[in-house]
Amino acid sequence: MEKVLEVKDLVTTFRIGKQEYEVLRGISFDIYQNETVCMVGESGCGKSVTTLSIMDLLPNNGRVASGSIKLNGQELTTLSSKERNALRGKKMGMIFQEPMTALNPLLTIGRQLTEGLRLHLGMSKEEAYQTAISYLEKVGIANPETRMKQFPFQLSGGLRQRIMIAMVMAVRPSLLIADEPTTALDVTIQKQVLVLLNRLKKDVSTGTLFITHDLGVVAEIADRVIILYSGRKVEEGSIEAIFSKPLHPYTVGLMNAVPNVDDDDCDIQPIPGTFPNITEDIGGCRFHPRCPYASDRCRAEVPRELEIEPGHFVCCHKVEEEHRK
Ligand code: SF4
Repeated sequence: MEKVLEVKDLVTTFRIGKQEYEVLRGISFDIYQNETVCMVGESGCGKSVTTLSIMDLLPNNGRVASGSIKLNGQELTTLSSKERNALRGKKMGMIFQEPMTALNPLLTIGRQLTEGLRLHLGMSKEEAYQTAISYLEKVGIANPETRMKQFPFQLSGGLRQRIMIAMVMAVRPSLLIADEPTTALDVTIQKQVLVLLNRLKKDVSTGTLFITHDLGVVAEIADRVIILYSGRKVEEGSIEAIFSKPLHPYTVGLMNAVPNVDDDDCDIQPIPGTFPNITEDIGGCRFHPRCPYASDRCRAEVPRELEIEPGHFVCCHKVEEEHRK
């Protein structure tokens, strides 16, 4: 499979007052065609900042301080804003939690769908109209001709989310970034949207970066999983490895914090302590104030990434020491 996205040692900083703080502290990962990589972690861990860094949509006080982001082999961090802008929508599509962030309330669905196709793929009016109709059908929207004439406010949240997916996928982007796209939907619609994204990913051969804090969603959609904690990747592996053999104490904590609906006696164990603020200066492993296994080494030394088995990476001194035995 072809590599679509390659992120290497990405450091993103935010200026707060006169100080600059690292929000992403050297993150590396790849995404291949036809695969969905789920990025998981608590609010503030850097998931959304990763997507905004890739899309060049950071707020004014944020910047990519170092590292590399390559899309289809092309370095993005050295491109101008104009060049990055041209790639957004064409090579990189983004689906947000709230579709109204992307949909223009003043334009009909048809206008919004066809404009993207004409602009990015150079289609004629008729070609764009037919393609838009076919994508509305692909996302399961009945009476697409009628929907094309409607405005976003005339549609339910679930329909708007499908339309946004149709709009993004019709352009056949190399990379799709989906930031909590199902969080605001009720459970049945959520399931339909996940099935749809899975199907379209194969149709379009896109690579997907899916941001979520919901491990149930991860189980449904992920091929690979990246666990982030306070701006660092702490574990990465296939869906099987992460669910059946989580190694990092934080990943284990996340798994133990999920209620098991099939087990009346299930014992939910929340992760102790609180998630650190980006301004907090924590030496060594940033998880150490909450980790039951923290040692002096953990407090002093940032753990390096270790490949425990092919494709399964962990950053933890304890795991490294056990692995060496
Ligand atoms: Fe815990 Fe130490 Fe591993 Fe960090 S490096 S997760 S503190 S054992």
